[in-house]
Amino acid sequence: MNKYEILKKYFGYDSFREGQEVLIDGILSGHDTLGIMPTGAGKSLCYQVPALMLDGITLVISPLISLMTDQVMALNQAGVHAAYINSSLTPNQTRLALMYAKEGRYKIIYVAPERLLLPEFIDFASSVNISMITVDEAHCISQWGQDFRPSYLKILDFINLLPKRPVVSAFTATATHEVKDDIINIMKLIDPCILVTGFDRKNLKFVVKKPKDKYAQVIDYINEHRNESGIIYCQTRKNVEEVCEKLCQDGINATRYHAGLSDTERKQNQEDFIYDTRPVMVATNAFGMGIDKSNVRYVIHYNMPKNIESYYQEAGRAGRDGLPSECILLYSGQDVATNQYMIDYVSENNELDYDTLKIIKERERNRLKKMTYYCFTNDCLRTYILRYFGENAENYCGNCSNCLTQYENEDVTEVAKGILICMKESKMRYGIAVILDTLRGSKSQKVLKYSLDKSSQYGKYQTMTIHKLRNIFNHLLVNDYVYQTDDEYQIAKISEKGRDFLDSDTESIIIKLPKEIEKVDTDKKAKKQTSKNSSNVSGAMSGMFEELRSLRKQIASEQQVPPYLIFADKTLIDMCDKVPHTKDEMLMVSGVGEKKYEKYGETFLKAIKEYEINNM
Ligand code: ADP
Ligand code: MG
Repeated sequence: MNKYEILKKYFGYDSFREGQEVLIDGILSGHDTLGIMPTGAGKSLCYQVPALMLDGITLVISPLISLMTDQVMALNQAGVHAAYINSSLTPNQTRLALMYAKEGRYKIIYVAPERLLLPEFIDFASSVNISMITVDEAHCISQWGQDFRPSYLKILDFINLLPKRPVVSAFTATATHEVKDDIINIMKLIDPCILVTGFDRKNLKFVVKKPKDKYAQVIDYINEHRNESGIIYCQTRKNVEEVCEKLCQDGINATRYHAGLSDTERKQNQEDFIYDTRPVMVATNAFGMGIDKSNVRYVIHYNMPKNIESYYQEAGRAGRDGLPSECILLYSGQDVATNQYMIDYVSENNELDYDTLKIIKERERNRLKKMTYYCFTNDCLRTYILRYFGENAENYCGNCSNCLTQYENEDVTEVAKGILICMKESKMRYGIAVILDTLRGSKSQKVLKYSLDKSSQYGKYQTMTIHKLRNIFNHLLVNDYVYQTDDEYQIAKISEKGRDFLDSDTESIIIKLPKEIEKVDTDKKAKKQTSKNSSNVSGAMSGMFEELRSLRKQIASEQQVPPYLIFADKTLIDMCDKVPHTKDEMLMVSGVGEKKYEKYGETFLKAIKEYEINNM
């Protein structure tokens, strides 16, 4: 069988995605291969397809039990014989698995890096024909990454122990040069075929919101996306508990995950989420590594994370199946302060020396600033992220909250000067909230206590919304006219650039501001669009989709596998679109291979027919 036939027969797909063929061809021509592609791009297929074409066995080294379980279940569903060797097996089970493996029962074997050098495993590996070693999540080999695994360093020793060096392929979603070089050097890849694809995830829609009531925002969103699976990331354990409890009280099937829970509860909750028993997960950033659930339709950040790296990684857990999904960040000023606090105090108990710690903190503060500016910018959010990672991008994607908001240019020179004058007159002793209150003529305690009502700017912008004033201030901040002190008080100061601007008669500031009158309208439009986008099934078909989805759920619980491993959402949608009536037609559906057809094809054909009869 050639690679296209394998793709169709086992995986049910008609064509390869960007980059996949290059990597597969690299491996098949006997070259070591390194694939760097974003989450959800389809890295697994890049080694699974050649594994099925090579004579011998492919060993896949993977860092987490949950990842291995997921992949092995998926392969078995597709009719490929695969197994894993890791600490979840008893010694007896391991012996048995290795015995079957020796007999040639498995084409693909997943193994934890800690197991590689155990005598039992070396004995097995030297007595069979190993065609390829694949290192998944290969960034774990690098100390530069946040997921460094010392046991990954043993991989090279293991390879050197084998009677014949197999082809080595490595895959990761981490793109920094340091990590890439580490992978090549530490694993001693020989003249590798390297492919790096772009980091854009086109199916993800990026949204930033600054709601007064975050919880209200979340519950509204979930209610509009009932039946869909999503993750809500919170900054602290306490937040997780609160949000999860409220959601449950409001009738949402939510569960929770954070490092403070017992192992048993964490395991159970994670399973409930993966099996769609509880489709909404409220969690700290402790949750997610090793979650391959493909049908996560939204990731909401209840708090702003500490840097863009974390944000993109966490948000990127949405839409692995390539269907439209949303990444929503709910910003509030408090999030900045909390992150600041964590940088300043929490990392204190580190064993690093003073100077190193100082440099690290400085770096983290800078990253936090970039994260904060992401929430302030009125430009394309996707572009902002891609540029942060050093990729070129046009300043328009059409699929983020900024590109979807109508803006108009406005000359705000006078207001900007008003803000600066007010800061200057008050000797730059206050935070921005107090300054803006002064401009709006507030009678708040602080304004009166500090006699800011005597300022020449007091009440000058009484009629302007706080939202708009904030926008203008943020522009000054992002463009370095002002800065904030790094302590918890975040006192606003005028920079040199700001002083020059204040003195200049000619310099003006023109910024993009959301059109205020139309705001409500666009919000509504956006809502309509998203609800259509996310389910992606038009009205007439959505009944059938629901029917098929509940059939899938039923089969999944009978077989004890996650629903998305039976058929992906995308496959069900394609079924609703193509409405197959025969085996041949069913095999045309993306994601239905021969093996899957044998298992489930007829059941689903029958359900489609029944649905049609009942709804004629
Ligand atoms: P990664 O490891 O790169 O994050 P996965 O290998 O888990 O991504 O694949 C993500 C999803 O994409 C899976 O559901 C997989 O079945 C699907 N996929 C992979 N290759 C293709 C393809 N050529 N056509 C359609 N879907 C694909
Ligand atoms: Mg993967």
